[in-house]
Amino acid sequence: MNKPATQHHLFTSKVLDWFQTHGRKDLPWQQNPTPYRVWVSEIMLQQTQVNTVIPYYQRFMERFPSIETLAQATPDVVLHHWTGLGYYARARNLHQAARQLVADHNGIIPNNVDQLSELPGIGRSTAGAIVALAHRQPATILDGNVKRVLTRCFAVSGWPEQSKVKKQLWELAEALTPHKNTNVYTQAIMDLGATVCTRSKPDCPACPVTVQCLALKSHSISHYPGRKPAKALPVKATVMHMLHNCHNQVLLEKRPPSGIWGGLWSFPETPDPEEFPAAIVCARELNESQRWPTLRHTFSHYHLDIMPIHQQVDELSDKVMESDRWLWYPLDQPVEVGLAAPVKQLLQRLAQAVR
Ligand code: SF4
Repeated sequence: MNKPATQHHLFTSKVLDWFQTHGRKDLPWQQNPTPYRVWVSEIMLQQTQVNTVIPYYQRFMERFPSIETLAQATPDVVLHHWTGLGYYARARNLHQAARQLVADHNGIIPNNVDQLSELPGIGRSTAGAIVALAHRQPATILDGNVKRVLTRCFAVSGWPEQSKVKKQLWELAEALTPHKNTNVYTQAIMDLGATVCTRSKPDCPACPVTVQCLALKSHSISHYPGRKPAKALPVKATVMHMLHNCHNQVLLEKRPPSGIWGGLWSFPETPDPEEFPAAIVCARELNESQRWPTLRHTFSHYHLDIMPIHQQVDELSDKVMESDRWLWYPLDQPVEVGLAAPVKQLLQRLAQAVR
């Protein structure tokens, strides 16, 4: 097994060689790559693919050929030239940063990552791309394309946005970025991710680092990059009382108009299985209550563990039933009312159980 430094060197030289024959060299921002032109392209490319960006970029450059013209424009005009490209905060930040640079720095775009990263809308990777591609100085990028190539080739597991994984990827990206020809390598690694090591169908036979790629070797390409871990949902619990009278009817309560299951019919609930629903204490319990297995219902923000309790009861007083908050639901002749999903399920089970 080769040492990591040798592996890194091999990777870098393979990617650089590949770029000579397969890299993209005719992109509009590669012609006359001034810091301003590269900056605008990097911002447009942040969430958008190259082919979509090209016509927008050309129109934008015709209208705002320099940082000064951009700084002088009104926000409306800038947004107008961004219309259809989406993620408009990018345009607002770009405009604001241009005004800031013109006002405080004579319109000169910084040539180091730290100063660039202080400007609105420029993160560490975008700053690295501007320094490498426009200023032609050593700097590292780690955009989505690069993350995909590196996680696969070096089998870096875990979600790339997780701080531990991110740190590992930045260290790897820095170790791979050459001090000479940084601009070529930067374009090459972006191109490799965008055209060969694509998200769903990587073209491994055309890849220059096939021999090194650990994901390919272990047939686990689809595991990289790792997905965002699903957030563990909190669990809440409730007790639903299925109060059943001698006419084979079950008592339902209308829920308040807002909140979960707003306006739907549900069983009376209590937090505690030993408690009887307070509003209907006048019902007489005719036998031992029966606890049913817990039923889990999942909302987008939490799981609700429902403990159903079946209880045979006497009639309720007329006073209680006068209110349109209560309904005796006939189990053998279901009526058309809005039911919360688990309530519907429990009513069906109950109907079967008493058949
Ligand atoms: Fe991506 Fe395939 Fe190349 Fe590995 S061999 S880096 S999976 S294209």
